[in-house]
Amino acid sequence: MIKYQQFYINGQWVNSISNETLDVINPATENVIANIAIGSEEDVENAVKAANNAFNSYSFSSLEERIVLLQRIVSTMKERSDDLADAMTKEMGAPYLFSREEQVASGIDHCEVMIETLKNFSFTQQRGNAQVHLEPIGVCGLITPWNWPLNQIACKVFPALAAGCTMVLKPSEIAPLSALIFAEIMDASGVPKGVFNLINGTGEGVGNALSTHKDVQMMSITGSTRAGIAVAKASADTVKRVHQELGGNCPNLILKDAPLSSAIENGLRSVFSNSGQTCDSPARMLIPAILMAQAIVIAKNVCAQIRVGDPEDKHTEVGPLVSAEHFTKVQALIQSAIEEGATVVAGGAGKPAHLSKGYFCQPTVLVAKPNSAIVKQEIFGPVVVMVPYEDEHQAITMANDTEYGLAGYVQSADQRNAQKIAKQLRCGTVQINYPEYNSRVPFGGYKQSGNGREYADFGLMDFLEYKSIIG
Ligand code: NAD
Repeated sequence: MIKYQQFYINGQWVNSISNETLDVINPATENVIANIAIGSEEDVENAVKAANNAFNSYSFSSLEERIVLLQRIVSTMKERSDDLADAMTKEMGAPYLFSREEQVASGIDHCEVMIETLKNFSFTQQRGNAQVHLEPIGVCGLITPWNWPLNQIACKVFPALAAGCTMVLKPSEIAPLSALIFAEIMDASGVPKGVFNLINGTGEGVGNALSTHKDVQMMSITGSTRAGIAVAKASADTVKRVHQELGGNCPNLILKDAPLSSAIENGLRSVFSNSGQTCDSPARMLIPAILMAQAIVIAKNVCAQIRVGDPEDKHTEVGPLVSAEHFTKVQALIQSAIEEGATVVAGGAGKPAHLSKGYFCQPTVLVAKPNSAIVKQEIFGPVVVMVPYEDEHQAITMANDTEYGLAGYVQSADQRNAQKIAKQLRCGTVQINYPEYNSRVPFGGYKQSGNGREYADFGLMDFLEYKSIIG
């Protein structure tokens, strides 16, 4: 077991002031693999002070200097990509290939896209007799979750750096190991001292201390809606900008004319990847009632092929859930759905028969009624809930019948109709027919899925203030 008792503050690794620590557990083995220091208010104070001092010079760095810095970070990330991938596999159970091809790749991609964005971005605009200047907002507190640990850090740190902000990152206490490697990457890439600082800790401790700090001008949190609300409330007294990327409960509308086999198979595989622990997972599959019997047969066949197991094995498709607590939550949701009358198409409650150790969940497909509890909540596990609908109007109403609004999916052979339906969905992103990933468009949610947007220039804009100089 490795002990990480230091934080990265003002360009140096410094010992934590508090004596509190937390074990990091490998969810596939249930073994303790590391122990991290948990930061105190004093640690936060030191990090914010460093970020505040650094802001005086970094906020005036040139566009070219920031581009060169991001280019150095991209190359160091590429050099350390295996270390990052291995850390994520161990800390949160992402399977070997998924860790490399999705988790690490997406983090690097966000840095490359931010370089491209900066090359085409103008920080001043002329408006008649005035100039509008886009200036960095100040010291930012960044709070990230465990499910896409590197990606979520990348979505905040790179636009903040590109904007000229300085920052204190508090990564998830459940998956902090990849974040520590990320801090080493920032150090090795020559990020000026104090610009990027990292403090490990809990949401209630370090997260709250950042949110209430008078010298922090903006909080950006990715996490549950519960935590997003807590950060907004804690930030209110100091009138911070609060950027929130929160939960989702995303509908996948399978229209009557969709190629049924591939529409169902791609939808299930998309949910099962990352063990369903993805905020925009298409976990609520809306299916024409007359096609439900066929859909069930297809889903059964797909589930029978999915390989669940050791995430360090290159052939594994689905790893464990992140923690014992999360495993218990997902199991309880499956169990209560069954008690409420849901039909089990595949999987169900309990671990896969061949896995006794680890927080593994069976890839599960249920058929449930539109108003049942499991349809209303974010499950965040390898669970797809199929819900029958009678006509497209009802499907759209059901799709929007959620407090969340992160993403929606439409499957159809008729592009024009799919586009028409996409416009009626109340969410930040709609994907039609499982398109290729695109990180140049805004990502974020309507309703209780958040405020603000990430990715490319949309992410960058959220870290800027507008100043009008007239005359
Ligand atoms: P979580 O809310 O438990 O924790 C997220 C982060 O918030 C952690 O760093 C945690 O320490 C911190 N936190 C918790 N309580 C806090 C408080 N009171 N004050 C300040 N910080 C606090 O979420 P999680 O379990 O790590 O992640 C899963 C959730 O994240 C899901 O709901 C998922 O949908 C969401 N998520 C959203 C997006 C998005 O882009 N919209 C992306 C990934 C994950």
